[in-house]
Amino acid sequence: MTIEILPLGGLGEVGKNMTALGFDGSYIVVDMGIRLDSIMAFEDAEIGDMSREELININGIPDDGILHGRKVKAIVLTHGHLDHIGAVGKLAHAYDAPIYGTPFTLELTKRIIREERGFKVKNELRPVMPGDKVKVDGIELEFIPVTHSILQTVLILAKRGGESILCASDFKLDEEPLLGYKTDRVRLKRLAREGLSAAMVGAIRVDEPGPTPTEAHVREMLHEVMKETSSGGGLVLATTFSSHITRLKSMVDLAFELGRTPVLVGRSLRNYCTSALDLGLVDFPQELRIHGRPNAVHNLLREVDRAREDFVLICTGHQGEPTSVLSRIADGKLPLKVREGDEVIFSASVIPNPINESNRELLETKLRAQGASIHRNVHVSGHAGKVDTAEFIQLVRPEHLIPCHGTPDKLRLMVDLGRELGYSGGHLHQLRNGISLRIGG
Ligand SMILES: [Zn+2]
Repeated sequence: MTIEILPLGGLGEVGKNMTALGFDGSYIVVDMGIRLDSIMAFEDAEIGDMSREELININGIPDDGILHGRKVKAIVLTHGHLDHIGAVGKLAHAYDAPIYGTPFTLELTKRIIREERGFKVKNELRPVMPGDKVKVDGIELEFIPVTHSILQTVLILAKRGGESILCASDFKLDEEPLLGYKTDRVRLKRLAREGLSAAMVGAIRVDEPGPTPTEAHVREMLHEVMKETSSGGGLVLATTFSSHITRLKSMVDLAFELGRTPVLVGRSLRNYCTSALDLGLVDFPQELRIHGRPNAVHNLLREVDRAREDFVLICTGHQGEPTSVLSRIADGKLPLKVREGDEVIFSASVIPNPINESNRELLETKLRAQGASIHRNVHVSGHAGKVDTAEFIQLVRPEHLIPCHGTPDKLRLMVDLGRELGYSGGHLHQLRNGISLRIGG
């Protein structure tokens, strides 16, 4: 029995994660992501309207041509970030295979499928709960709970005939995640005892020493800065990843604690929060207003403008996206202006690519020019740093270590870490997109 590991995206780059795992000619596809910086480089790019070929040509989605004609038995999704599910609308229809994911991941996937205009995606969506096991064509799949910056993230364990592989691209070891479950360390430890053939481990933050601080730690940071900013008479604006429900919950709770009314404004904030609320994953107070449609947004912003010292305005715009609410406020396109004494909290780091960096710098410059004080980087990452990545590898002790999800320099750092942990030559693999590795036999 051998496992063929065929990465199709995410190696040597950040984004468009996708890997095919072959067991005697039957394949499981793990994730189908997009590469946002490639797509953003094309102004006004509407992914729903773009063709598969167009997106492959601009390096926006994985080139899965090599898989066509092979027996793909299932598509499994690890979590709901776009660099893991964003290409489902363009690629999944080519396979006669169901899509497995946790309820939140599938809810977000449904939105992507609805927005897809080129293809009809008819793959059956099969929800699984963290901890579940399913059998597909003799391949056992297990969905192992982990912490990350989005709810209901899982690692995928695929097993058949004594060989096993763990896909662990996005995770952190957070003992105080505030919402959702913790990483199932007991299960991870048992994997080592059972014997794990291989693990693909994400390298995106392996250059940070780590351990990555907990979400409870960010809440403390937010508490400090929100307390200080709320005591002034200005408007407090805060922004973070729309998919980061835990962070949004901390902002909402802290605003109420500090005697201000939180409101959430922006289309993507509304989408993610509605999905989490519908599934009962978060309990926002009944009176919390979350608006995304233009009329509702305009009316709410007028109301905020009339009593600025009473509100915390949580909105889109943490990367300086030109169409976000915060950018449009800064550009004078909405019925609320930033003034002297207002405070803007960025609870996100800038995702390092030239477009984000320049967008964000421009936005901050405009906000400062209008009199706002800026509080940057009130944030911790959703990915393990070097120390916690090492801890993870030692917990699961795979026979083969395969760095994934990272630029070439990060993949190399992970190889170095593997060597520090005692891995050598034939057990340490720096792979490339489109090239297979076979292990076992
Ligand atoms: Zn992620």
